[in-house]
Amino acid sequence: MSTYPDIETLHKHLAQCRRCAEAGFRIESTPVVSGKQSARLMVIGQAPGIDAFAPNPRPFGGDSGARLFRWMARVGWSEEEFREKFYITAVTKCFPGSDPKSNGDRVPTVTERRLCRPWLDAELALIQPEVILPVGRLAINLFYPPKLKLIEVIGDHKVDEQGRIIVPLPHPSGASRWFNEPRNVARLELALYRLKLLKEQLDL
Ligand code: SF4
Repeated sequence: MSTYPDIETLHKHLAQCRRCAEAGFRIESTPVVSGKQSARLMVIGQAPGIDAFAPNPRPFGGDSGARLFRWMARVGWSEEEFREKFYITAVTKCFPGSDPKSNGDRVPTVTERRLCRPWLDAELALIQPEVILPVGRLAINLFYPPKLKLIEVIGDHKVDEQGRIIVPLPHPSGASRWFNEPRNVARLELALYRLKLLKEQLDL
Protein backbone atom coordinates (compact mmCIF):
# COMPACT_ATOMS: atom_id res chain seq x y z
CA MET A 1 0.00 0.00 0.00
CA SER A 2 1.61 3.26 -1.11
CA THR A 3 1.58 6.27 1.17
CA TYR A 4 1.06 8.47 -1.91
CA PRO A 5 -2.30 8.89 -3.64
CA ASP A 6 -0.82 8.89 -7.15
CA ILE A 7 2.48 8.82 -9.00
CA GLU A 8 2.51 12.58 -9.63
CA THR A 9 2.40 13.23 -5.88
CA LEU A 10 5.13 10.64 -5.33
CA HIS A 11 7.30 12.37 -7.96
CA LYS A 12 6.84 15.74 -6.23
CA HIS A 13 8.03 14.31 -2.92
CA LEU A 14 10.81 12.32 -4.58
CA ALA A 15 12.21 15.49 -6.18
CA GLN A 16 12.78 16.89 -2.69
CA CYS A 17 14.48 13.78 -1.29
CA ARG A 18 17.83 14.47 0.40
CA ARG A 19 18.14 11.24 2.40
CA CYS A 20 21.53 10.26 1.00
CA ALA A 21 23.07 13.73 1.34
CA GLU A 22 21.77 13.92 4.90
CA ALA A 23 23.35 10.52 5.60
CA GLY A 24 26.72 11.92 4.48
CA PHE A 25 26.95 10.66 0.89
CA ARG A 26 28.40 13.07 -1.65
CA ILE A 27 25.59 12.60 -4.06
CA GLU A 28 23.79 14.88 -6.47
CA SER A 29 20.21 14.92 -5.19
CA THR A 30 18.54 14.81 -8.59
CA PRO A 31 16.16 11.87 -8.76
CA VAL A 32 15.56 10.68 -12.32
CA VAL A 33 12.56 8.46 -13.10
CA SER A 34 9.95 8.57 -15.87
CA GLY A 35 6.58 7.17 -16.83
CA LYS A 36 2.93 7.06 -15.98
CA GLN A 37 0.99 5.24 -13.30
CA SER A 38 -0.84 3.25 -15.99
CA ALA A 39 2.39 1.62 -17.22
CA ARG A 40 2.09 -2.17 -17.51
CA LEU A 41 5.84 -2.73 -17.65
CA MET A 42 8.51 -1.30 -15.35
CA VAL A 43 12.26 -1.16 -15.94
CA ILE A 44 14.41 -1.06 -12.81
CA GLY A 45 18.00 0.00 -13.49
CA GLN A 46 20.87 0.55 -11.07
CA ALA A 47 21.10 4.36 -10.78
CA PRO A 48 21.07 7.28 -13.21
CA GLY A 49 24.31 8.07 -15.02
CA ILE A 50 26.09 11.37 -15.65
CA ASP A 51 23.33 12.27 -18.13
CA ALA A 52 21.23 13.01 -15.02
CA PHE A 53 22.69 16.51 -15.41
CA ALA A 54 21.21 17.00 -18.89
CA PRO A 55 18.67 19.87 -19.12
CA ASN A 56 15.76 17.41 -19.13
CA PRO A 57 17.22 14.25 -17.62
CA ARG A 58 15.65 10.93 -18.52
CA PRO A 59 16.51 7.45 -17.26
CA PHE A 60 18.88 5.64 -19.60
CA GLY A 61 19.49 8.89 -21.47
CA GLY A 62 23.17 8.18 -22.19
CA ASP A 63 25.31 5.59 -23.93
CA SER A 64 24.07 2.60 -21.94
CA GLY A 65 20.51 3.70 -22.69
CA ALA A 66 21.31 3.76 -26.40
CA ARG A 67 22.30 0.12 -26.12
CA LEU A 68 19.23 -0.77 -24.08
CA PHE A 69 16.95 0.84 -26.65
CA ARG A 70 18.69 -1.03 -29.46
CA TRP A 71 17.72 -4.21 -27.62
CA MET A 72 14.14 -2.95 -27.20
CA ALA A 73 13.98 -2.08 -30.90
CA ARG A 74 14.75 -5.73 -31.63
CA VAL A 75 11.83 -6.72 -29.40
CA GLY A 76 9.62 -4.34 -31.36
CA TRP A 77 9.47 -1.07 -29.41
CA SER A 78 11.01 2.16 -30.63
CA GLU A 79 12.65 4.25 -27.89
CA GLU A 80 9.88 6.82 -28.20
CA GLU A 81 7.14 4.21 -27.82
CA PHE A 82 8.93 2.48 -24.96
CA ARG A 83 9.40 5.69 -23.00
CA GLU A 84 5.80 6.72 -23.65
CA LYS A 85 4.25 3.41 -22.59
CA PHE A 86 6.43 2.19 -19.76
CA TYR A 87 7.82 3.27 -16.41
CA ILE A 88 11.59 3.54 -15.92
CA THR A 89 13.16 3.79 -12.51
CA ALA A 90 16.21 2.52 -10.62
CA VAL A 91 17.37 0.93 -7.38
CA THR A 92 18.68 4.36 -6.38
CA LYS A 93 17.26 7.41 -8.13
CA CYS A 94 20.16 9.89 -8.01
CA PHE A 95 23.50 9.92 -9.85
CA PRO A 96 26.01 8.46 -7.36
CA GLY A 97 29.06 10.07 -8.99
CA SER A 98 32.00 8.53 -10.80
CA ASP A 99 34.04 5.69 -9.41
CA PRO A 100 37.66 6.91 -9.04
CA LYS A 101 38.89 3.32 -9.38
CA SER A 102 37.23 2.68 -12.74
CA ASN A 103 35.96 4.52 -15.79
CA GLY A 104 32.37 3.91 -14.76
CA ASP A 105 29.88 5.27 -12.26
CA ARG A 106 30.12 4.47 -8.58
CA VAL A 107 27.96 1.55 -7.51
CA PRO A 108 25.48 2.76 -4.87
CA THR A 109 26.33 1.43 -1.41
CA VAL A 110 24.12 -0.92 0.55
CA THR A 111 23.13 2.03 2.76
CA GLU A 112 22.10 4.17 -0.21
CA ARG A 113 20.08 1.28 -1.59
CA ARG A 114 18.35 0.85 1.74
CA LEU A 115 17.62 4.58 2.00
CA CYS A 116 16.10 4.61 -1.49
CA ARG A 117 14.14 1.35 -1.22
CA PRO A 118 10.93 2.95 0.14
CA TRP A 119 10.67 4.98 -3.09
CA LEU A 120 10.84 1.83 -5.21
CA ASP A 121 8.31 0.08 -2.99
CA ALA A 122 5.95 3.06 -3.34
CA GLU A 123 6.38 3.10 -7.14
CA LEU A 124 5.65 -0.63 -7.34
CA ALA A 125 2.58 -0.27 -5.10
CA LEU A 126 1.11 2.52 -7.22
CA ILE A 127 1.93 1.17 -10.67
CA GLN A 128 1.48 -2.55 -10.03
CA PRO A 129 3.32 -3.53 -13.21
CA GLU A 130 2.50 -6.82 -14.92
CA VAL A 131 6.07 -7.16 -16.19
CA ILE A 132 9.30 -6.03 -14.55
CA LEU A 133 12.67 -5.82 -16.30
CA PRO A 134 15.43 -5.65 -13.70
CA VAL A 135 18.45 -4.36 -15.58
CA GLY A 136 21.84 -5.18 -14.09
CA ARG A 137 23.05 -6.98 -11.00
CA LEU A 138 21.68 -4.65 -8.30
CA ALA A 139 18.16 -4.74 -9.71
CA ILE A 140 18.29 -8.46 -10.47
CA ASN A 141 19.26 -9.10 -6.83
CA LEU A 142 15.85 -7.76 -5.80
CA PHE A 143 14.24 -10.80 -7.47
CA TYR A 144 16.90 -13.54 -7.65
CA PRO A 145 19.36 -14.92 -5.07
CA PRO A 146 22.56 -12.84 -5.30
CA LYS A 147 24.70 -16.00 -5.33
CA LEU A 148 23.46 -16.87 -8.84
CA LYS A 149 25.77 -15.85 -11.66
CA LEU A 150 24.49 -13.45 -14.31
CA ILE A 151 24.57 -16.19 -16.92
CA GLU A 152 22.26 -18.27 -14.70
CA VAL A 153 19.54 -15.60 -14.59
CA ILE A 154 19.77 -13.84 -17.97
CA GLY A 155 17.44 -15.72 -20.32
CA ASP A 156 15.36 -16.94 -17.40
CA HIS A 157 11.98 -15.48 -16.56
CA LYS A 158 9.64 -16.17 -13.67
CA VAL A 159 6.37 -15.15 -12.07
CA ASP A 160 7.01 -13.83 -8.57
CA GLU A 161 4.77 -14.26 -5.53
CA GLN A 162 2.82 -11.15 -6.51
CA GLY A 163 2.07 -12.47 -9.98
CA ARG A 164 4.50 -10.16 -11.76
CA ILE A 165 6.52 -11.53 -14.66
CA ILE A 166 10.22 -10.87 -14.10
CA VAL A 167 12.57 -10.79 -17.11
CA PRO A 168 16.15 -9.94 -16.06
CA LEU A 169 18.55 -8.21 -18.44
CA PRO A 170 22.29 -7.48 -18.14
CA HIS A 171 23.24 -3.87 -17.58
CA PRO A 172 23.94 -2.36 -21.00
CA SER A 173 26.91 -0.37 -19.71
CA GLY A 174 28.67 -3.58 -18.70
CA ALA A 175 27.58 -5.42 -21.78
CA SER A 176 30.75 -5.04 -23.82
CA ARG A 177 32.91 -7.02 -21.41
CA TRP A 178 30.19 -9.49 -20.57
CA PHE A 179 29.56 -10.13 -24.23
CA ASN A 180 33.08 -11.27 -24.95
CA GLU A 181 31.65 -14.69 -24.14
CA PRO A 182 29.45 -16.13 -26.93
CA ARG A 183 27.42 -18.09 -24.38
CA ASN A 184 26.52 -14.78 -22.67
CA VAL A 185 25.36 -13.38 -26.01
CA ALA A 186 23.17 -16.45 -26.41
CA ARG A 187 21.57 -15.78 -22.99
CA LEU A 188 20.71 -12.21 -23.96
CA GLU A 189 19.24 -13.44 -27.23
CA LEU A 190 17.03 -15.78 -25.20
CA ALA A 191 15.95 -12.96 -22.88
CA LEU A 192 14.99 -10.75 -25.84
CA TYR A 193 13.13 -13.64 -27.44
CA ARG A 194 11.14 -14.18 -24.23
CA LEU A 195 10.36 -10.49 -24.10
CA LYS A 196 9.15 -10.54 -27.69
CA LEU A 197 6.81 -13.44 -26.89
CA LEU A 198 5.47 -11.58 -23.85
CA LYS A 199 4.93 -8.46 -25.94
CA GLU A 200 2.77 -10.47 -28.31
CA GLN A 201 0.96 -12.55 -25.67
CA LEU A 202 0.13 -9.59 -23.40
CA ASP A 203 -0.25 -7.04 -26.20
CA LEU A 204 2.26 -4.74 -24.51
S1 SF4 B 1 19.23 8.13 -4.13
FE1 SF4 B 1 17.10 7.88 -3.41
S2 SF4 B 1 17.18 8.06 -1.15
FE2 SF4 B 1 19.11 8.89 -1.99
S3 SF4 B 1 18.69 11.11 -2.18
FE3 SF4 B 1 18.23 10.17 -4.17
S4 SF4 B 1 16.02 9.71 -4.10
FE4 SF4 B 1 16.70 10.08 -1.99
